[in-house]
Amino acid sequence: VTIRVGIPRALLYYRFYPLWTTFFTELGAEVVVSEPTTQEIFERGLKKFVGDTCLPMKLVFGHVITLADKVDYLFIPRMVSIEKDAYLCPHFAGLPDVLRALMPDLPPILDTHFNVRKKGVTMKSIYEAGKRFNKNPARVYHAYQKAQKAYQKFLERIRDGITPQEAIQAFDGKEVSLPKERKERLNIALVGNPYTIYDPFSSLNIIQKLRKLGAKIYTSEMIPDEIIEERVRSLSKRIYWTFGKETVGAAFHYLDSKEIDGLIYIISFECGPDSLLKEIVDDKARKNKKAAYMTLVIDEHTGETGINTRLDAFTEMIKRRRNKKVDTS
Ligand code: SF4
Repeated sequence: VTIRVGIPRALLYYRFYPLWTTFFTELGAEVVVSEPTTQEIFERGLKKFVGDTCLPMKLVFGHVITLADKVDYLFIPRMVSIEKDAYLCPHFAGLPDVLRALMPDLPPILDTHFNVRKKGVTMKSIYEAGKRFNKNPARVYHAYQKAQKAYQKFLERIRDGITPQEAIQAFDGKEVSLPKERKERLNIALVGNPYTIYDPFSSLNIIQKLRKLGAKIYTSEMIPDEIIEERVRSLSKRIYWTFGKETVGAAFHYLDSKEIDGLIYIISFECGPDSLLKEIVDDKARKNKKAAYMTLVIDEHTGETGINTRLDAFTEMIKRRRNKKVDTS
């Protein structure tokens, strides 16, 4: 019988889905992903959740509940660090325990510990994740190598200019249809945590909304790691969070780029890291007058109308700035 592994369409799904899926599929498992977020999924999760946290963490509860009766295992890795000298926010490391404590009836959770620190992803964590499917370490390692290849291809697709959401579609073999680029297009960069930007429910479909307003979208995943590293190295404060580094590095890069007309920083309300990083990005944007800048703070109470009005105003402002430049040149 094929073992079914459930992956919630939340959090690091937006970064690692092709890697995880290839790994489990290569080991003979069937991967089941929860459906795209809806109000109902969100509300189901909220009923189980106790206490205060950010929207992305609340959402994962709803996704896990919808998967619970469809799978044999849930894959909720205990993510501490995914790169040298940087960490994920502590919520990630505690997630498997919180889920188990609040929902004891869940299927067994594969909570492989990922803590890269100085050694790279260790064979131990890879084997830990794969041993239930195949006890042979060589087979598990081989599956991981294949997964890495699929992951590199996914990253390359994004660097070629599609969003991670679209690169996931391409990985799943679905056709990705991008809107035709308009001649007078606006180049708008989006920065922030990937699971907020690329989950259409959380971001109120911001990518589609901006495209309708004539924007071409740029994201932090489209920038090579070296550039991100270089930009954050020049800061007086060190940033310890992986997504925080990406947000700030990409924001600095795009604010200095001649191509970009505007930058939007999408912030999760109740996100500790975001509230600190906002100061750094705000400060850079204040000093840099080239690109328009705005922040959008998002939580479950954010209304569609409010966002539409802000996006309209932002794109109008960019157009006015452009016309002014033409007038004075
Ligand atoms: S980084 Fe912010 S949004 Fe992400 S899990 Fe942590 S608190 Fe939530």
